[in-house]
Amino acid sequence: MLPRVKRVLFVTSELYPLVKTGGLADVSASLPRALSGLGLDIRILLPGYPAAMTTARQLGSKKLATLTTGGHAMTLWQTRLPDSDVPLWLLDSPALFDRHGGPYQNPLGQDWPDNAQRFHQFALAACQLALGQGSLNWQPDLVHCNDWQTALIPALLHGHRARPATLFTIHNLAYQGVFDASTFWQLGLPPPLWHMDGLEFYGQLAFIKGGIMFADQLSTVSPRYSEEIQQPQFGWGLDGALRHRHDRLHGILNGIDDEIWNPATDPHLAAHYHRDDLSGKAVCKQDLQRQLGLPVRAEIPLLAFVGRLVEQKGVDLIDAVLPGLKDLGCQVALLGSGQPQLERILLEWQHRHPSQISVTLGYDEPLAHQLTAGADMLLMPSRFEPCGLNQLYALKYGTPPIVHGVGGLRDTVFDPTQYTARKANGFSFEPATGEAFWQALERALTLYRQPRHWLRLQRRGMAADASWRRSASDYTRLYRKALAACHQASRQTTLA
Ligand code: ADP
Repeated sequence: MLPRVKRVLFVTSELYPLVKTGGLADVSASLPRALSGLGLDIRILLPGYPAAMTTARQLGSKKLATLTTGGHAMTLWQTRLPDSDVPLWLLDSPALFDRHGGPYQNPLGQDWPDNAQRFHQFALAACQLALGQGSLNWQPDLVHCNDWQTALIPALLHGHRARPATLFTIHNLAYQGVFDASTFWQLGLPPPLWHMDGLEFYGQLAFIKGGIMFADQLSTVSPRYSEEIQQPQFGWGLDGALRHRHDRLHGILNGIDDEIWNPATDPHLAAHYHRDDLSGKAVCKQDLQRQLGLPVRAEIPLLAFVGRLVEQKGVDLIDAVLPGLKDLGCQVALLGSGQPQLERILLEWQHRHPSQISVTLGYDEPLAHQLTAGADMLLMPSRFEPCGLNQLYALKYGTPPIVHGVGGLRDTVFDPTQYTARKANGFSFEPATGEAFWQALERALTLYRQPRHWLRLQRRGMAADASWRRSASDYTRLYRKALAACHQASRQTTLA
C-alpha cells in the first residue's frame, strides 16, 4: 500500500493570470485547483513579481513569515489563487523580483543577468518551507517542483532527514537554466553537487539537473514526450540522464481549465455555442474577420495560429505553406510574439496580402480566445511539443487542429488516415517538412468542403473530456509513489 500524501507545496515561477509566458502558467493555476478539489491541502509558492503583489493587495493578503536565506531577508505573504480557495504564497524580495519586465527577461528580451541568484534564493526559501522551518506550523509531505527555476529544490533537500518527498515536472526540456561553472561556486552550492551525477552539465551548471538527478519521481506533460526526451533527438544533451532515471519518469497529459476555456461560457466571445448547436461559432468567425480587417465571408476557410514565435513552434513551416494557402484563397490569422526575425517574416506576409493574412504581434489573451473560437482550423506545426495546450483548447472549441505528430500533439490529435472515424478529431503530419504539412492541409481543406463530415469531426473534438479531472488523480498516485520512494531513501540513509 502506498502512503497517503495530504499536504503539498506546489512551487512554480509562473501562474495564470498573475504571470504567464506559456503553458506552465496555465497548468500551475489549474492543476492545484483540481488537486484541492480532490481533498489535498495544497499551497502554491510563487516569486513576488509586481503583478502578483498587486493582485495579492487587491484580493487581500496577510504576512506569514520572514525568511532569511544567505543574507537575503524575504517576506512571505499569503493570498489565494484568484477564483479559488487555494492558498497562494508569495515570496516578496524587491531586490530579486520587483522589476519592470518579464519573469526571466528584461523588456528588451534579454535574460536578467542575476537569474541564477534569483532562482537559487527562491529555491532556498522553498527548502525552508519544505523542512517546516518557516514557523508556519505546516510542513508538506511533498514538494512539487516545476521546470528549471525550481529544480535546485530536490538537490538541496536530498539527504536531509525528515525531508518531504519531491516530484519534478518537466514542462519543457529545452529550458535548462544553464550558467557558467563559476556561478556554481558563487552561489555557494554544496561542493558534492559539482559532479556529472549532480548539477554539472558538460562543464557548466544546469539547474534542471537538480530535478532530474535528485527528485523522488519525475514527470513530464505527456506520455509521448516522456519517451521522446530519452532519445538524443529530443534530449537536449540530457537524454542519458533521463534514461538513467527512466524507472522514475512518467508522462501525465495536461488538462485544461474548462471554466476558462469553454465556448459555452467564454466571456471573450461574441456568441456562445456548444456541441449540439454550433451556430454561435459562425458569429464568432464573422466577429473575428471584422475585428482583424479581413473580408467577412463565411465560406472562406480561416486558419489560425496562437503561440510563442520561436523555432519550437514551427514558424518556418507556416512560412512554407503560406504561399499555397494564399493561392487557395484562405484567410490566415496569426497571434504571437517572440524572436524578432520570425516576427519580421510574418509581418511581411501581412504587408503583402493584408486581405488574407492578419498578424498580431504581442500577448493578447482575449484575442487568443477569439481566434480559437472564430477560426475553422488551428495550425500547430511544432517541431517538438511537450504537451501543447492550444490544440486542446482548439478541440474543445470545435476548431480541428493540424499538427506535427510529436509529443503531446501525437497523444491528443488523431488523423482520419491513421485512426477510425470514431476517433479522428484533427490532422497530423510527419515528418516536419513543408510538404508533409501541405498534404495535411489539403486533406483538412477537402474535408472542410464536406460540411456533414466536418461537423462530425468538430463534435468529436468537443466531446472529449480534456479537463484536469482525469490527470489530477494520476498526479495523486504519483505523489504517493514519490512519498514511498522518499521513505525508502531515508531508510537506506539510516541503515548506512
Ligand atoms: P508553450 O507553453 O510552449 O508556450 P502551450 O501550447 O503549452 O505552449 O501553451 C501556450 C499558452 O500560452 C496557451 O494558453 C496560449 O493560448 C498562450 N499564448 C501563447 N502566446 C500567446 C499570445 N501571443 N497571446 C495570447 N496567448 C498566448
